[in-house]
Amino acid sequence: MAEPSIVVVENCPHCQKAPALCVCESIQQLAARHHVLILQHPQEPDHDLGSARIAHLSLPNSTLKVGLSWPNLKTALGKEAVNSRWAVLYLGSGIKAPTAGKKTGLIFVDKKGIPLEAAPTPKDLDGIVVIDGTWSQAKALWWRNAWLLKLKRAILIPSQPSLYKELRREPRKECLSTIETVADALEILGAPPATANGLRGTFKVLLDKRRAQLKEARAARKS
Ligand SMILES: [Zn+2]
Repeated sequence: MAEPSIVVVENCPHCQKAPALCVCESIQQLAARHHVLILQHPQEPDHDLGSARIAHLSLPNSTLKVGLSWPNLKTALGKEAVNSRWAVLYLGSGIKAPTAGKKTGLIFVDKKGIPLEAAPTPKDLDGIVVIDGTWSQAKALWWRNAWLLKLKRAILIPSQPSLYKELRREPRKECLSTIETVADALEILGAPPATANGLRGTFKVLLDKRRAQLKEARAARKS
């Protein structure tokens, strides 16, 4: 009897997704005046639904760095940068911000989480830093990169729930994916609507492919 052959399926070299989840066909080059620096924890576990790389591939004006610490913004970015012209986004809602009753958008806060009276305008910023990973990984990156404390800080209050829906329950229902966070933030900072829509559209393609994959797996188990 012949041994069953083992099929090794390589991930897409571009988007690094499994073939069934490859979204390269929907990735477009999207315009944004603000640079997006995504810091990704090396153990970011979500290979199926992780969205940092897709966001990076969609935005020519972006940088994706995988690691635990960098000495400063300039090193992480690989080019000159002025700390005061950058904002770091808190992911999720794990910060004690007085956001109850607040409108949606980017809320700039001081070190205590109190909204600034004179918030920076989009013209005051060159870029944003987004931390990708679980809540504890994001916290780890935060503490290992003291230079983040020198940047402006903003909390994103999403205008709509994540497209993840049933696919992800962690860490909190209201958490957006990294790519949705970037889409919302760039939209608020004045990027063309096509940019945010393009980012969300590609993420939706990924989620639809994932749902199809799960459905297929369920059907295979039944038969
Ligand atoms: Zn791909």
